Amino acid sequence: MSFSSEVKEELIKSIPHERHCRISELTALLAFSGKRVGSSIFVYKNTETAAALRKCFTLLSKTFNINTEILGTGIDNNRPFIEFSRDPAGMSDVLDAIAKEAPIYLLENDCCKRAYLRGAFISAGFVNDPGKAYHLEFVCQDEASAEMIKELLYDFDIEAKSVARRKYFVVYVKDADTIQDVLNVIDAHKALMELVGARIVKDVRNNLNRRNNCDVSNMAKAVTAASKQIDDIILIRDTGGLESLDEPLREIAELRLEHPESSLTELGTMLDPPVGKSGVNHRLRKIGEYARKIGSGKS
Ligand SMILES: [Zn+2]
Repeated sequence: MSFSSEVKEELIKSIPHERHCRISELTALLAFSGKRVGSSIFVYKNTETAAALRKCFTLLSKTFNINTEILGTGIDNNRPFIEFSRDPAGMSDVLDAIAKEAPIYLLENDCCKRAYLRGAFISAGFVNDPGKAYHLEFVCQDEASAEMIKELLYDFDIEAKSVARRKYFVVYVKDADTIQDVLNVIDAHKALMELVGARIVKDVRNNLNRRNNCDVSNMAKAVTAASKQIDDIILIRDTGGLESLDEPLREIAELRLEHPESSLTELGTMLDPPVGKSGVNHRLRKIGEYARKIGSGKS
């Protein structure tokens, strides 16, 4: 599986808790993979469609209790599409509600901006394999959508560029740090860790003369540990929510998610008051124990 598909798989699996985020993500999925025609939705067929379609179905079902199905396929403006809906009346109301509510959420909530960018990435995003040149993009149908993506990214201090490519407008970022920032904003934490790991390998290869095998194995260990911590934190977030943790644990969990590449010492200095490496390690171990309890259903 390509790295891009891995990112999408990860994003499809995570379902936002809040209705506002679900609606924002749904809006982007619909806007970037198809269009509304009356009470039906047309999703254009391309390699990314299956992913977008799956998430649309899940979000519609979980948010509105509407179980959509594929009605058929056809051609619109020379482009093949899949049409889906269930009962026309119910679907129409849902689509009206989404169209009315989403713009308000997008103006007000950071969580909803993230959700929108996530939906847009599932529908129209692409990221190079971490071993190759660094490149992440959103392929937009029109200039207005491209501007919107740029503005939303800018709200998270990410400066993306855009360029017209054939009939599309492409918003892109081209350096590893910025790509990490985008993956972080759209909540692709596992993919982010993979990128961090690949960067370390690359970095080590480039500096082979200055480093020895011991450094490499220590760094590999640190990345594996951070990956595991992030898995645990995501598990807690997606079950009881991070609020279920005591304040000191919640703080470090949030920091770890925001700074997957930071060392324990660095994380410690971000706390107020600062905490040493062993203190951070202690808290992360407690989070690990808590996650294991949830995992085995004892919580
Ligand atoms: Zn939200």
